[in-house]
Amino acid sequence: MTIGVVGAGQLGAMLALAGYPLGLDFVFLDRSAQTPAGRFAPVLTGDFADQSLLRRLAERSEVISFDWENISLEALRAATRATRTRIAPPLKALAAAQDRLTEKRTFERLAIATTRFAPVDSRSMLERAVERIGLPGVLKTRRLGYDGKGQYVLRRPEDCERAWQQLGSVPLLYEQFVPFDYEVSIIGVRSRRGEIAVYPLNRNYHADGILRLTLAPWHAPRLLRAAAASLKRVLEAFHYVGVLAIEFFVHQGRLVANEMAPRVHNSGHWTIEGAVTSQFENHVRAVAGLPLGAADARGHACMINLIGQMPERQALLAEPGLHLHDYGKEPRHGRKLGHCTVVESSAGRRNARARKILTRLYPQLPFKP
Ligand code: AMP
Repeated sequence: MTIGVVGAGQLGAMLALAGYPLGLDFVFLDRSAQTPAGRFAPVLTGDFADQSLLRRLAERSEVISFDWENISLEALRAATRATRTRIAPPLKALAAAQDRLTEKRTFERLAIATTRFAPVDSRSMLERAVERIGLPGVLKTRRLGYDGKGQYVLRRPEDCERAWQQLGSVPLLYEQFVPFDYEVSIIGVRSRRGEIAVYPLNRNYHADGILRLTLAPWHAPRLLRAAAASLKRVLEAFHYVGVLAIEFFVHQGRLVANEMAPRVHNSGHWTIEGAVTSQFENHVRAVAGLPLGAADARGHACMINLIGQMPERQALLAEPGLHLHDYGKEPRHGRKLGHCTVVESSAGRRNARARKILTRLYPQLPFKP
C-alpha cells in the first residue's frame, strides 16, 4: 500500500521511516524535493494547490495524509473525488484547525475550556474586542500562524495601533493572555475501526514561540485525565482517523486549550524511542486501516529540538543513550533542524539529563527542568 503525503518536511520523513518496516510505501508532494522526506521517498514537486499534481498524488496512493496544515482543502477534495482515494485525517478536522476561529469554536462546542476570544476584521472590532476581553491579550492571524508567528501581545490600549498596523491586513482573532504556569500537550490516535490510543502527557517548554524541550510522561494524573477526555471528544466528534494533538496552558491547576494539530506533533517526537509504538507508526497504522499499537511509555523521555544550527555531532553522540535525528535541512535562524531524545529509568534522572544537555547546547535558555 502507498500512502501519499502532502508536505515533505521532517514530520513526513519520520512517517515514512516508521511506515517502511510495516511494508508501506510513500510518495510526497511539496514545493521542492530538497526536503527532509525527499531523502527517503519520491516527491512530486509544485504548488500545494495544484490540481493536476494532487490528482497525480491521489492516483499513486491508496490513502492521502498530510504533514502540515496549510494546504488547500478544495483542491485536495477535488483531486481525491475523481480517484476515490481516501483522505485521513478527515478534512473537516483539518478545516477546523486551519482557522483559529473555527478551532476555538470547536473547543467551545465540545465543552473544552479555552481562552476567551473574539474575531477581529477591522480596527474598530479590535477595540471592541479589547474592551470586552481586556488586556493583556494576544492578537493572532486566523490562518497560517505557527511557532508563535503572526502574533502580537497587547499590554496597553496604545498597543492597538501598532498591532493593527502589523497584522491588520488579514482576518484576525483577539484572545485573552493567559498567565499560565506551564504548557502541556496530549497526543492520541484513532483507527478506522474507532479504537483510540492516548500517549502520556507531555510537558513543553517554549522560547520565542518555538518548542525547545518536551518531558514525557509528565506526571500529573488529574491533568492527564482531563486532557485525554478532551482529546477523545475531538477524535470522536470528527470520526477522526490518525494522530491528533492538543496543546494546553496550565493555569491555576486547570487546562486551557490553546490549539490543536490534526497531525503528528513535535511534542510527540520522544515516542520514537520512548513509547511502545511511536506517534508516526500509529499514524500510518491508522490511515492504512491497520490495528493501533500500544501508546505506553517505555521510560522517562526528554526531547530537545535542535534549532538554528546543528550542534557538533561527535560530542552530542558521546552522550550515553542519546538518539539524534538530523533532518538534513539548511541551517537558518529559528529553523528546526533536528532533535535528540534520551530515555531514562526515572523522571529525576531524565530531568537531570535534560538539564545537562540543555546547559551545554543552549545555556541562554531561561528554563531549567
Ligand atoms: P501558538 O502559535 O498559538 O501555539 O502560540 C505560540 C506560543 O505563544 C504558545 O505556546 C504560548 O507560549 C504563547 N501564547 C500563545 N497564545 C497565548 C495566550 N493567549 N496567552 C499566553 N501565551 C500565549
